[in-house]
Amino acid sequence: MTILSGKEYAAQYDEKLAQQVADLKKSGKNPFFCVINVGDDPASEIYVRTKARKAEKLGIDHQMYHLPGSASETEIIDLIHQLNDDPKVTAYLVQLPLPDGIDEKKVLAEIDPNKDADGLTLENIGSLWQGDHFVEPATANGIVNLLRDKQIEIDGKHCVIIGRSNIVGKPLAALMLEENATVTILHSHTKNLPELTKQADILVAALGQANFVTADMVKEGAVVIDVGINRVGKKLYGDVDFESVSPKASYITPVPGGVGPITVEFLMEAVVKLTRRQDG
Ligand code: NDP
Repeated sequence: MTILSGKEYAAQYDEKLAQQVADLKKSGKNPFFCVINVGDDPASEIYVRTKARKAEKLGIDHQMYHLPGSASETEIIDLIHQLNDDPKVTAYLVQLPLPDGIDEKKVLAEIDPNKDADGLTLENIGSLWQGDHFVEPATANGIVNLLRDKQIEIDGKHCVIIGRSNIVGKPLAALMLEENATVTILHSHTKNLPELTKQADILVAALGQANFVTADMVKEGAVVIDVGINRVGKKLYGDVDFESVSPKASYITPVPGGVGPITVEFLMEAVVKLTRRQDG
């Protein structure tokens, strides 16, 4: 069994991205990344800080906007319009989830697709499914790039994804199809879930339940990608029971240090790509 360290992969990728940022700046193009965070969700605050730190490390200018949980949809959308209109801003995202009562779809629809760092506007999602995408949701893109980097074959393999969210499960299914995997998506209404997970050559757990995937649900030799981040007390758990599953897997990502760091890395790659495109 090989542990796929997202931390190590991200550290290697840092060098490539920092160079790209430096090259962009040399040619007079300045990446400028923003995040709009609404409310006081503790997990969101950690993610925003992590994104700011990574931008800082790569030399990407950034600004984190924090609106109170009481902010109205109109206030959020006004800020989005301000970022759309600001020529200095090259990429941004709205940190999800938004507080209850805010219509997420309505808010995301206001983002300029050319500055859409998370790849969640309808235009970018449509392009993703059509196979002519330019920017992809970072977790999905990071996972595919990690597998490619480790020369893990995807073509013709059965990829089973637990979770069908717009941010992880669905975009990953689109990218895996593009890599010629046979894709099965499981969700909370799926019957006989373990029967299906046992068929996976590549099993991706993205459901948000600590230690959900146990050894009896995994085929011998499967590649196991654990997207889950579940906080129990002060400890972080993935969606995969690492201890029981790892002896059976050929490759497995740990939590922490797996998909998390890769996601932030590929978010920054999206910022670089969007910046490059905006300036032709
Ligand atoms: P969502 O809550 O949006 O989606 C969860 C999905 O899992 C849904 O499709 C849901 O089904 C499905 N699901 C939930 N319970 C079960 C179950 N018992 N059996 C089968 N399917 C189930 O979560 P996200 O996609 O946003 O995130 C998933 C996990 O990944 C979370 O732990 C999150 O913190 C983590 N995450 C980690 C990232 C990283 O960088 N490592 C990035 C993004 C997320 P249904 O649609 O039927 O409700």
